[in-house]
Amino acid sequence: MQAEIIANGDELTSGKILDTNSQWLSTKLAELGITTLYHTTVGDDLEAMIDILRIASERTDLIIWTGGLGPTADDLTRQAIAECFGVPLEKNEESMRLIREMFQRRGREMPNANEIQAFQPQGAVPIRNPHGTAPGIDLTIQRKKPVKKGRLDFCRIMAYPGVPAEMKEMWQDSGQKSIQEMLDQLTGQKRVLRFRTIHSFGLGESQIEAMLPDIVNRKHEPKVGITANRATITLRIASEAATEEECFKIMEPTATLIYKTLGSLIFGEGDDQLQDVVCRKLNETGQSLAVIEAGTRGLLAEAIAGSKETPECFAGGIVLPPKQPIDPDEMIRRGRRLFSVDYLLLIGAYPSGQPDRNQTENTFVAVIDARKTDLKESILVLKNYPYVGHPDIIDDLYVKRAIDLLRKTIST
Ligand code: AMP
Ligand code: MG
Repeated sequence: MQAEIIANGDELTSGKILDTNSQWLSTKLAELGITTLYHTTVGDDLEAMIDILRIASERTDLIIWTGGLGPTADDLTRQAIAECFGVPLEKNEESMRLIREMFQRRGREMPNANEIQAFQPQGAVPIRNPHGTAPGIDLTIQRKKPVKKGRLDFCRIMAYPGVPAEMKEMWQDSGQKSIQEMLDQLTGQKRVLRFRTIHSFGLGESQIEAMLPDIVNRKHEPKVGITANRATITLRIASEAATEEECFKIMEPTATLIYKTLGSLIFGEGDDQLQDVVCRKLNETGQSLAVIEAGTRGLLAEAIAGSKETPECFAGGIVLPPKQPIDPDEMIRRGRRLFSVDYLLLIGAYPSGQPDRNQTENTFVAVIDARKTDLKESILVLKNYPYVGHPDIIDDLYVKRAIDLLRKTIST
């Protein structure tokens, strides 16, 4: 099944806000094994909305729509769906009751304008909206014309409110389940799709790919995809089977091979980030950490402090000016004065504060064992990295290098 996601609203087409709904919904559809073929954005213009619905319903079998279900004059989604598919709008008494109840609970009188939110195109099923006023619209259209091979003889339109929190809640409340049921019915059997995402740091995407030529091959089963996000390289294994257990069993040998090949380059799976893995290890062993950074404007401290592993291990940080050269010894002295911790993690200053195209400048990253009194002995590892890379990501890269260096130091 292939889908089209349509985002509706003048605030989107005018550039005032970014369409994040479509991005989120695409990932959710992918989890159900549905490919999103199109992302379309349309303003609050009835004719354009009808046009785009007609085109979408001809080229895909599932349309997920967000926006335009509010009570105001520029909320035209109900009308567009009804007009496009030639059905009247009808008042749904159950929806009306729920909308009235919602206003009562909020202790407010329902404005007349909200009555329109109880209207649905004939044949549609309202989608429950637990915390908002407008229900969504779930309408299935039987196709009149025969369509291409492999396509279904119907098109299903599911319309959600534009407010991201409301839309997501409704999706999790019923949308996802209802689409899964439709898929089960279509295939005549229950299928689930599961993923494993394995994250690595330290080598580039193409280097990782070259180490795993047979696995990343398109013909490989289960399928393995490779993506790069700010120097973190992720391998995603996807598997479809009757049960979740079966999916994971199918993926196991591939995962094992990836672990064997990449070894310590792998730092975690799922939603783990480098700092989470490090903080978890430090917490488990009752060890503590402080950071001192110059070139990275506080980003190292932010990464550690923001870890999902409540960073009990984190004692604090010192942020120094990025352009004032400072040597590791001086950093260690300052760190010791302020913190009594097991480890200090350092990032040096950028000599000129500018990306250096000649690669003549370096910035150091160091892991310090702060329990050792001798300054030289306390430096467990110190590495210099050339300060090259795009200005937007270079700081992030140093932060990851530092955390990764600590990860390798404490895991041995
Ligand atoms: P609407 O349901 O069209 O009245 O939209 C209500 C609000 O939700 C808008 O004013 C936006 O702030 C937000 N919104 C609507 N569509 C999107 C979208 N595609 N992505 C992110 N936010 C959205
Ligand atoms: Mg709108």
